[in-house]
Amino acid sequence: TTFADTGLSDNLLRAVSDKGYDTPSPIQAQAIPAVLARKDMTAAAQTGTGKTAGFTLPMMQILDETSDAKPSRGRPIRALVLTPTRELAAQVEQSIIDYGKYLQLRSMVVYGGVKIGPQIRKLKEGIDILVATPGRLLDLCQQGACKLDGVNMLVLDEADRMLDMGFINDIRKVIKMLPKKRQNLLFSATFSKEIKQMTKELLVNPVAIEV
Ligand code: AMP
Repeated sequence: TTFADTGLSDNLLRAVSDKGYDTPSPIQAQAIPAVLARKDMTAAAQTGTGKTAGFTLPMMQILDETSDAKPSRGRPIRALVLTPTRELAAQVEQSIIDYGKYLQLRSMVVYGGVKIGPQIRKLKEGIDILVATPGRLLDLCQQGACKLDGVNMLVLDEADRMLDMGFINDIRKVIKMLPKKRQNLLFSATFSKEIKQMTKELLVNPVAIEV
């Protein structure tokens, strides 16, 4: 398989090639076409497998294809990526910046431990993709700084670590703010009983990928 075989657009293929990637990793070869086909998906994948590109690339393609010319301030957040840690959130955001260099999508990362004021101000500018840790996201929503009712794609990255870190209630609260009809992607290194339960609750007929 080549990246072109996965169905990615030229602007994303160019960015991938600029990164120096030759061929898609096994998870990318499976995940990219499934996400582009608008399927819900679970993926059993560790860090280092290329999972981040596996969801960010097709997610950005879908957002790019469905962008309209709304002025930035009126734009709703359309994709939400939840991660357990600020380090992972920052890595995901960096990937989005790198892969999105030829697109006009706006992304932002929010996590706790830093001032909330600048995050509130930047959110007002209009964001297509929000990468967040659950606690800070809830704070922002409770302050009325971010609306999630336009989110039609949800990614739970390292879902097992989010559960281990006690984020389940925060995640449930976030999900209550999302539209019911949306695409859901869940990445987890392990598939415990709890993760399987969460999958059953949140995903609709998911494609299951293992690498
Ligand atoms: P991840 O598992 O998403 O954390 O990615 C691990 C590392 O692999 C990152 O440094 C990526 O930049 C790199 N990477 C991702 N996909 C590819 C690919 N298809 N070819 C070469 N390197 C890649």
